[in-house]
Amino acid sequence: MTGEKGEEDGEALTWDLEDLTMEELSEGQAAARALEDMLTLSSQTLVQAEVEDLYDEVRQLGQGRFGRVLLVTHRQRGTPMALKLLSKASTTRKGFLYEFCVGLTLGSHPGIVATYGIGLETQACYGFLSEPALHGDLIALIQPQRGLPDSAAQLCAQQLSLALEHIHSHGLVYRDLKPENVLVFEPGCRLVKLTDFGHTRPRGTLLRLAGPPIPYTAPELCSPTRWPEGLPIQPSLDAWALGVLLFCLLTGYFPWDQPVPSEDPFYQDFLDWRDSGKTCDRPAPWVGLTPVADRLLGVLLDPQPRHRGPVGSVRAFLGQSWQKARSPEVARKRGEREEEEEEEEEEGAE
Ligand code: ADP
Ligand code: MG
Repeated sequence: MTGEKGEEDGEALTWDLEDLTMEELSEGQAAARALEDMLTLSSQTLVQAEVEDLYDEVRQLGQGRFGRVLLVTHRQRGTPMALKLLSKASTTRKGFLYEFCVGLTLGSHPGIVATYGIGLETQACYGFLSEPALHGDLIALIQPQRGLPDSAAQLCAQQLSLALEHIHSHGLVYRDLKPENVLVFEPGCRLVKLTDFGHTRPRGTLLRLAGPPIPYTAPELCSPTRWPEGLPIQPSLDAWALGVLLFCLLTGYFPWDQPVPSEDPFYQDFLDWRDSGKTCDRPAPWVGLTPVADRLLGVLLDPQPRHRGPVGSVRAFLGQSWQKARSPEVARKRGEREEEEEEEEEEGAE
């Protein structure tokens, strides 16, 4: 049973009751209504000015696919802030207001970057301000083929699971969990926060994959024939992405390129190993993990979204070792994976 809900950036928001409980459905609809109201109000209070009229630019903090983020200080008060600028060439007014309002809605949580209530419209861009992270994002901390120390990975897991639970409690699904969107506020990952709400949507919104899958994409989004009208999104998408992110933090590898068995041998190996129920004979990327980490990732990376554990599942596993002490076997198996990857790269280059 499907009913039209409205339109957003040209996407039809529809609700498929077969895949959502009534409670889940009304949670998502309430979130969509609250955001629409906030969007109307924020639209009327955008400040029309150029950046240099109001702020002094200190340096660039980062650049994503959509936004450029600058460290600025307020011209009169000197307060340091992060200013995210979204070019009008690639972002609609509504798309910008949506991201701004989601940030305002969620920003009171300690695991979420605080958005300040000032929206800006310049000749070329839309912009909004948030608290600046001076230690960069997680991508800079992940050492290739090593990841992060166990303690730092567990601190991230704990804080991110709480931040995602907060998002889910607002009837929203985050949908863009990756190291680039996790900002570091204190060394050793003692304080990390989620940012970038450009992809966040109310639970139950019907969505189709816009481009090729990435490692963080959940498998249910990769089967378009199963969901011709789009998948009604659920918090379980974020639980999958959290599993993949934790794998990357613990190993310095992606577990696969995409969760499509016919396309990705690493994913097929994972499914076979999972089905076998064995703790030994682990696929090469998994050699550095302990059985505790296997169990946690097994919960978050369940291919069936309805059986997948929620993001809060991580808390039952904290305080135990997730990374194996480095042994010659770990080093050898990791070496094999690097050789395989080099061979694939050479084949690709031919
Ligand atoms: P996009 O929507 O284009 O992905 P993001 O909001 O993720 O843009 O910002 C791009 C990058 O800018 C981030 O990956 C991060 O490195 C940096 N960044 C974003 N917000 C902040 C902030 N508040 N403080 C410090 N750096 C930030
Ligand atoms: Mg981003």
